[in-house]
Amino acid sequence: MTNTNSADGFATISVAAVLAESAKRTPDNIALVVGEDQVSYSDLWRQTRAYAGALRARGIGPGDAVAVLIPNVPDFARVYYAILSLGAIVVPVHALLKAREIEYVLQDSGAKLLICAAPLLGEGAAGATASGIDVLTVMASDDGGFHRLEAEAAAAEPIQTYEPCRPSDTATILYTSGTTGKPKGALGTHFALVEQTSTLLTSVMDFRPGDVLFGGLPLFHTFGQTVVLNTGLRAGATIVLMPRFTGPDALKLLAKHNVNIFIGVPTMYVALLEAAKTIPDRPAALRYGISGGAALPLAVLDKFRDVYGVEIHEGYGLTETSPVAAFNHVGTTPRPGTIGVPIWGVDIEIARPEVVDSIELLPNGELGELVIRGHLLMKGYLNRPEATAEAVVDGWFRSGDLGTKDDDGYLTIVDRKKDMIIRNGYNVYPREVEEILLTHPAVVSAAVYGIPDDVHGQEIAAAIVLDAGASVTESELIDFASAQLAAYKYPRVVRILSELPLGPSGKILKRKLAEDPA
Ligand code: AMP
Repeated sequence: MTNTNSADGFATISVAAVLAESAKRTPDNIALVVGEDQVSYSDLWRQTRAYAGALRARGIGPGDAVAVLIPNVPDFARVYYAILSLGAIVVPVHALLKAREIEYVLQDSGAKLLICAAPLLGEGAAGATASGIDVLTVMASDDGGFHRLEAEAAAAEPIQTYEPCRPSDTATILYTSGTTGKPKGALGTHFALVEQTSTLLTSVMDFRPGDVLFGGLPLFHTFGQTVVLNTGLRAGATIVLMPRFTGPDALKLLAKHNVNIFIGVPTMYVALLEAAKTIPDRPAALRYGISGGAALPLAVLDKFRDVYGVEIHEGYGLTETSPVAAFNHVGTTPRPGTIGVPIWGVDIEIARPEVVDSIELLPNGELGELVIRGHLLMKGYLNRPEATAEAVVDGWFRSGDLGTKDDDGYLTIVDRKKDMIIRNGYNVYPREVEEILLTHPAVVSAAVYGIPDDVHGQEIAAAIVLDAGASVTESELIDFASAQLAAYKYPRVVRILSELPLGPSGKILKRKLAEDPA
């Protein structure tokens, strides 16, 4: 995994170029906005070089892993590109992790240092202490007993430019559960990450200098990092950061900053629709939305068009694919319910899911597992050759998602392999049941999952969030679903909750619902 200084006759590349080049081309454009603060491209690159100087003075260099626990504020970007500028490796830590989970990431990645935002030090410092590694803080009002990156940067010599890396050098280690097991570190290469920005900008999304992008997706997750941060900054656009997402605050922010491209997971779109019921502000500049990370329910797509007057372009990807693999390309009319077509240079096929040690492709129209090949693939999982060999077979990455491909190449995700419910031997795809429940006028969000059942093997359960003021009972919802779905598919258990449990990137945590049937 060691990165090498590659100025030795090999092609070189660096994710840090994304910022460095824009600092040359659009130095005075505003790169980042948070609250009342604005940072221009030239200032962001200058501050990044100063941070990199401090890290270099601490001995951080090519191939060293540095963990980062920072919310969506400009320091995330400064630290991210400072590490990459040195040819070192960024290990972003999910902001909601507890000390024990942070310790796992630090130890598994072999990080040499944790750079932690002061507000997150409680868990971060405990995790780092347990792993025996140093902590540097940012955003601290006093030293609080910790070394401060800003102070070290003021004392160090800034770097002049970024280290050249080999295309296959590791740039990031992103922890993901993948399809099974404990979180694994997916190794993202400089090549895959830079190539994503090229492909997204030339043919998938039309970010331009002066565009204003919504930056509420967590930057520690692949979706926020690649699509918002790297692609947004390469375009010379402005990113309006939002450290803690809520629908009402996001709506006000969109209007205030004339955001023209909203980028989010489906639960964010649901929250914006809810907010629109009580908040009169409308983002007049909005051109379109981008959704990914989970299935966008058709009802949400339609309501969003009615309320906000723009289309949502849905895409699909995974941490292991850096992430964007397929997209309803901007400039084409989105095909609702599909994830669009593979992006430039990427192959996606449907393979027989039960054949595990080779790839057996299925004809168009048949349901199977999406397998993905192309420049976007991770290098593997850190220190887990068996998991890598299971995931990447004959050069194809097995996504763990079930879906179909039509004759035009459009792909539809039916569900995740592991979320499929088997009731009385019949396969039930939660997404289909959720789509039905979401057509009920009182239902705002729905999550369908399996629970163990002695008679049927698994039973179908649904957790529902109702519209404020709506009154409908659990049994009325069961009747509603049973009138529209085959007998083996409709939920026998419905729970009405005030909110659904969400993961750090805004995805609904079905595992949690299944484990906590109360
Ligand atoms: P992550 O590695 O956290 O980005 O999660 C990747 C997973 O998110 C995929 O394996 C899919 O199950 C899910 N996913 C991403 N985009 C979509 C989408 N548009 N529709 C359905 N599922 C999606």
